[in-house]
Amino acid sequence: MKATVFHEHGGPDVLSYEVIDTPTIEANQVLIKVNYVALNHLDLFIRGGIPGLKLEMPHILGSDISGEITEVGSKVSDSLEVGQKIIVDPGVSCGVCEFCIRGQESLCSSYGIIGEHYRGGYAEYLNVAAQNVIPIPKESGLDMAGAASIPLTLMTAWRMLMTKAQIKAGDDILIIGIGGGVALAGLQIAKAAGARVIVTSSSDKKLEKAYTLGADEGINHNETPDYHKEIYRLTNKRGVDIVVDSVGQATWARSMKSLRKGGKLVTCGATSGPIAETNVNLLFWKQLEILGSTMGSRDELRTALKLVWNGTIRPTVDRILPLSKAQEAHEILEQGAQMGKLVLKP
Ligand SMILES: [Zn+2]
Repeated sequence: MKATVFHEHGGPDVLSYEVIDTPTIEANQVLIKVNYVALNHLDLFIRGGIPGLKLEMPHILGSDISGEITEVGSKVSDSLEVGQKIIVDPGVSCGVCEFCIRGQESLCSSYGIIGEHYRGGYAEYLNVAAQNVIPIPKESGLDMAGAASIPLTLMTAWRMLMTKAQIKAGDDILIIGIGGGVALAGLQIAKAAGARVIVTSSSDKKLEKAYTLGADEGINHNETPDYHKEIYRLTNKRGVDIVVDSVGQATWARSMKSLRKGGKLVTCGATSGPIAETNVNLLFWKQLEILGSTMGSRDELRTALKLVWNGTIRPTVDRILPLSKAQEAHEILEQGAQMGKLVLKP
C-alpha cells in the first residue's frame, strides 16, 4: 500500500510517500480502508521528536481517520461488518487499571494514541482494535472528509469544557487562537452549552469565520495585544469564567489576567512553548484554578459525537490535499495558515 512515513525525526521534509506492506489483522481487529486522515498539531510534535517517545521506524502519523471496514477479525462482534463507514477513536489504553475501569482512559499509565504510540492513518489501510471503531450513523449525513476531522479535537475539547471546567449556560468563555481544531470544537461545544464565547485570533478572516460558527465577540490580538483589558471591558470589569488556552507560553499571563475571581484556565497544549509564567499572587488572591487536560475517554467521545450526528457540531475542514502532499500540509499547519482541519486523502 502507499503511505506517508518518516524514517527519522525532523522537519516536514522527512515525510516520505512510499510503498510499504499492507497491515494484516489480529482476531480482535478490523482492517480499515482509510478514506481521509486529518492533521493535528500533535503530528508536528511527533515528527519533530518528543522527549521520551521511542518510535518503531518507519513511523506512520495520523490520529483522525475516517474510512470503510474491509476485513473483520474472527473474534470481533457481529455489529461490525465489511463495508461499514466508520471513524476511529484514537485512544488506546490497558482496559484493566483503576482509571480504565472508572472510564477515565486518558489517565491510564499506558495510555497511547493511534498515530503517536501506534502506526496511524497516513496510509491506504490501517488495522485497529474493534473497540476503537465507531460506525457513522447513516442518517447523520456526514461527509467522510468532515468525519475524519472530528474525533481527536472533539474529545479533547469536550473533556476540557464539560468534564474539567464544567461549563454552564450563561458562562463567559474566552478561547485563545480560534484557527485550531480544539479551539473550533470548543467554540461549538460552548455555544451548545449556552455560554457567551469570546475568541481571539491574529487574523480578521478567522474571526469572521468564527462569527459564522457562533462566536459572540472576536478580538484581533495583533491589533489589541493587551486583550485582557478588552475582556474586562466586555465583561463589565468582571473577567471571564473560563479561558481555553492551548497556546501556552505566549499567552498564559494574559489568560490568567482575563479570568474573573474563582475563574478556571484550562489547557491541553502549548503550541508556543511549554514554560509559562504564573503570577502566584494572582493565582491565590483571585482563587483561580488551572486545569490540565489530555484527550478524553471513550465515553466522552461517544457522548460528544451525539452532537455531531444531530448536526449541532459541524466539522470545519480548511482544505483537502492528497496524501502525497503531506509535507505541504505540515508546512501550512506549522505556519498556522489554516482555519479548521487540514485533511489528507490517500
Ligand atoms: Zn488502564
